[in-house]
Amino acid sequence: MSEPEFTFELRVCQWAEREWPPEGTLSDDRVALVARQLGVRERRWDTLIVECDADALAARAVFGDERLDSDLLHVVRNAPDEWAYYRDALPDPGYPWRYVREAVHDAADRDAVETRRAGNRIEIRRRWHYPDWVERIVAVENKPDLDAAAADALADQIERDVALGLADEVWVATRATGDRIEPALFEDLPVEAGILAFDDGAADGGGGTDPDAAPGAAQEGGERASVVWRPSALAVDEPGTRIRERPEGATATGDRSAARFEYVDPEWKRGKRLEIAERAYERGWRAYADTMRTDCRHFRLRRHDGDVLPWCGAKRRGPTGRECSGSCPEFAPEPPAWRTRGWPIEGGPGKGFERLLARRRERVRRP
Ligand code: SF4
Repeated sequence: MSEPEFTFELRVCQWAEREWPPEGTLSDDRVALVARQLGVRERRWDTLIVECDADALAARAVFGDERLDSDLLHVVRNAPDEWAYYRDALPDPGYPWRYVREAVHDAADRDAVETRRAGNRIEIRRRWHYPDWVERIVAVENKPDLDAAAADALADQIERDVALGLADEVWVATRATGDRIEPALFEDLPVEAGILAFDDGAADGGGGTDPDAAPGAAQEGGERASVVWRPSALAVDEPGTRIRERPEGATATGDRSAARFEYVDPEWKRGKRLEIAERAYERGWRAYADTMRTDCRHFRLRRHDGDVLPWCGAKRRGPTGRECSGSCPEFAPEPPAWRTRGWPIEGGPGKGFERLLARRRERVRRP
């Protein structure tokens, strides 16, 4: 069986964390934070790369590992240096103040602001400055087998991305074919989207234990990505167009007379970009472990290019998130005896895998 799209997606995330950008290097004061399956309500991207100011990213850490949602951001970004009644200090939110009051309490519970009572009034004061840590946001769609049908399906989504301009760049990542001219170039994708071709680095490996990993990790080779087509910079600071509906079969040059769309202002885009970045900060790309059966006796972390990816010893390949569940016919819980081999309190190898992934996620957050 060929490599599942899920495994390809994890390899793209892993590569992006280590190698981004595909040409050149990030300056020393920047880092790439990578997450997967994030976006806005109507659009979810496979891989997201948030280019961050390294010092500002480190300063963001004082607000905790959990994301700050839009209500919390409203509070922490506008909290005053000196004590003030919260309704005087914060800008009108455009929704009922009682929700702001709840957010003030939530922010105080997280030690993100200070609060005190002055009679019936709640006053707030800034505890830390919320840093300007997000520089650029890059969206990547992963399509290892980019045939004409897959390109057609992607083209519509990418046209919407380009029109909205929420990400600074959009890429399509696909598997390299080795042909002199990658066939992806002949597909009908919007010219604004870049194309990355990944060498297939998923050959069966085996053996070799990651010194940083729980027992059972195996090794395999790395991969390289080459730029097949460079993307255009999207207009993130200008008003965007959200395409709500378009006639069947319409293309970028076709008849759009029946299309429904609406404009979004740059302020909305700025807010959404920060919310997306906050979610990326919380989740990273290793959160797959939260939904996989790391406690299955067949689950492994397999060393790959200096990092680790999930591996199923029963299927002899990387499992997908969907199949690696309690309903998997080959699921078998870790034998209780494993839990006494060096993990008397914290659990067995499955717990060890989860801790390893959490440590790696943490390392990226604090460059
Ligand atoms: S056997 Fe099933 S549950 Fe166990 S690791 Fe493999 S895919 Fe996951």
